[in-house]
Amino acid sequence: MKIGILGGGQLGRMLLQAAANYVAETYVLENDEHCPAAHLCHHFIKGDIKDFETVYQFGKGLDALTIEIESVNVEALEKLESEGVKVYPRPSAIRIIKNKITQKEFYKSNEIPSPDFKITQTLADLQLYTSFLPAVHKLAMGGYDGKGVQVLKSEKAFDKAFNEPSVLEKMVHIKKEIALIVAMNSKGDAAIYPPAEMIFDQSLNLLDYQLSPAQLPEQVLWKAEAIALKLVKALQSPGLFAVEMFVDHNNEVLVNETAPRVHNSGHHTIEANYCSQYDMLLRIMLEYPLGNTDPILPSSIVNLLGAEGHNGEAKYDGLDEVLKMDNVFVHLYGKTQTKPGRKMGHVTNISKEINELTYKAHKIKNTLKVMS
Ligand code: ADP
Repeated sequence: MKIGILGGGQLGRMLLQAAANYVAETYVLENDEHCPAAHLCHHFIKGDIKDFETVYQFGKGLDALTIEIESVNVEALEKLESEGVKVYPRPSAIRIIKNKITQKEFYKSNEIPSPDFKITQTLADLQLYTSFLPAVHKLAMGGYDGKGVQVLKSEKAFDKAFNEPSVLEKMVHIKKEIALIVAMNSKGDAAIYPPAEMIFDQSLNLLDYQLSPAQLPEQVLWKAEAIALKLVKALQSPGLFAVEMFVDHNNEVLVNETAPRVHNSGHHTIEANYCSQYDMLLRIMLEYPLGNTDPILPSSIVNLLGAEGHNGEAKYDGLDEVLKMDNVFVHLYGKTQTKPGRKMGHVTNISKEINELTYKAHKIKNTLKVMS
């Protein structure tokens, strides 16, 4: 079977690592021939995932396609789908999710709990919603990793807001941020992973470390699972979906956003769960049975980010010390150049003791540095 991935970043790389266990001929489309996935696939095609003709030509001879990022040419995927290429997720699901306005409208019309919102087309529209503050302004298209998100506490912050189509979302008093991965096959059978719990680095607005399974009261867990499952069923698409949610101070669960693909919040499933999210997506694409999502042991993930003040060829300070630690798994993404805040890898740690996970996550963060 010939399977293609649009995008050759670290997610594509890990998907290809899992694909090595199956009989599948792999194709990657990506503009950068030095990308993390380039050397792990059978066929690397250099090209723009946003360009109709490039995506169409890439997908034409393949059996199944998937994405590692939403910013792909959906029209080309729709044409490929109409010609019989299986696309995971369906282009209709990517279309809904790709634009934060349609994504929020989808939650509303399907009664999926999500923060209340207004739509703004230009900066001037914000003046209509001053009573809606404090709120979070989010670019409809093209935002990622916290770029394209602005907190607006008062009108004074309007100069930081977006003069393009955006969502103005009510500020949630967040107790916990969690992510829950749901897998659905072509028959509509679903499997849910235990949620992961995020701890953010406030200055970089990026994940600091993550714990899984999230420490949640049973009622909150049930609510989160029910919401995520309802959401994925409503998308009417096979594939793998990461549903990011807020738990507020009243223990209400609200959907922040959904990624219709393998996700950073599921990296730990490689070592910590019987079937990894990557293996699961391949099982779906290759039409094999769904795998077991149960955790083998609880886990933490630390992201390896380029250190402040370091630009250039990457060097990994403290790597020996971290590799000596028990039950610690280092994943480097093969990016040769580092810059401040760039995601260069991650480290997973598994243990039955939550305290040990937290302790080791901090130790890894303080020991392993990406310098130039
Ligand atoms: P991105 O897609 O760039 O990751 P998100 O929409 O996930 O952007 O927002 C980034 C972060 O901003 C979230 O993880 C959360 O900490 C914060 N945030 C987003 N929306 C809200 C909200 N409605 N209320 C409070 N905080 C929010």
